[in-house]
Amino acid sequence: MSAIKKTIVLKVDCENPEREKITLAANVIREGGLVAFPTETVYGLGADALNPEAVRNIYLVKMRPPDNPIIVHVARKEDVYRLAAEVPESAEKLMSRFWPGPLTLVLRASDIVPRVTTGGLDTVAIRMPRHKVALALIEASGTPIAAPSANLAGRPSPTIAEHVIQDLYGKIDIILDAGPTNIGVESTVLDLTSNPPQILRPGGLTYEELRKVLGRVSIHPAAVSKKEFHIKHARSPGLKHKHYAPRAEMIVVEGEFNAIIRKVAELAEKYLGDGKKVGILATDESIRRYNIGIVKSMGSRSNLSSIAKNLFRLLRELDDEGVDVIIAEGVPQKGLGLAVMNRLRRAAGYNIIEAGS
Ligand code: AMP
Ligand code: MG
Repeated sequence: MSAIKKTIVLKVDCENPEREKITLAANVIREGGLVAFPTETVYGLGADALNPEAVRNIYLVKMRPPDNPIIVHVARKEDVYRLAAEVPESAEKLMSRFWPGPLTLVLRASDIVPRVTTGGLDTVAIRMPRHKVALALIEASGTPIAAPSANLAGRPSPTIAEHVIQDLYGKIDIILDAGPTNIGVESTVLDLTSNPPQILRPGGLTYEELRKVLGRVSIHPAAVSKKEFHIKHARSPGLKHKHYAPRAEMIVVEGEFNAIIRKVAELAEKYLGDGKKVGILATDESIRRYNIGIVKSMGSRSNLSSIAKNLFRLLRELDDEGVDVIIAEGVPQKGLGLAVMNRLRRAAGYNIIEAGS
């Protein structure tokens, strides 16, 4: 698949998607092609989930490891009963409470799901996105759409169409551009084949929200680990691969807020002294405290969803500015902070410094 393709970029109205543009993209999906489209979390790279050849091309163009399964996107709940061999009561409850939305459910797969879609697993991950363009595309295609994030494997996920163009232009058929995505981190992946249900990847729907509905929820240790986690029998193989990484070296500084600020400033000075170009990912509350390097605010500590929304875009922006090292402030692991810290630590390859120690 190194052949160069003509990629069509189409601007689409995110509130009232133009019918002819959706039909064009849906025809491409039906014919086994690849369409990048917006969801409320990040942009996805879609193919017909039931067409093994089409799904294989997703892995090829993304250079995604073949054992990293792909989430299947649906526009109607009925499709879940075709794709899953069993739908437990907990799934029914979660679907009616949180769909459409940033929650992916891992269920036993039925025979109609090609094993290339599930990365060889006997489970399938399914979600219904809360985005008019995504829903219109899935409906018009008449088939569930398998879609990982529309970035090259290992790179930060795309939150604007420009990121998709950077990574995949000339390799896919269509890019639907409906502006920036709302949430900015991927969906929460919840395994309902384990008891209690387990969060395999923290994301746009918080642990706290899930607890309210389910009572007991566990979190996979790899998802909150501060070190590279060696998974033998990976139920979520995505956890073990390099992810979200900017080209620059990256460090996350964790700890008490004032200690973080002192440590970030100290590290920035040290790297500048070594002749490096330094980028700092600060927050609204700390941005004025740094006077060296390229300083960007991720958002407010009192509004962690703003940080989630900006994170991947800022990682790419700092790369574009050619920094050698990115020093990022850690944030509290509550609400969307759990997903943000998971992404920051992995983007940094677990290069974590505890401030004040
Ligand atoms: P992405 O498509 O880039 O958002 O990544 C999809 C995530 O969902 C990865 O972390 C996968 O490992 C996870 N995933 C997809 N399907 C399954 C499955 N059947 N079981 C467990 N995790 C899954
Ligand atoms: Mg991804």
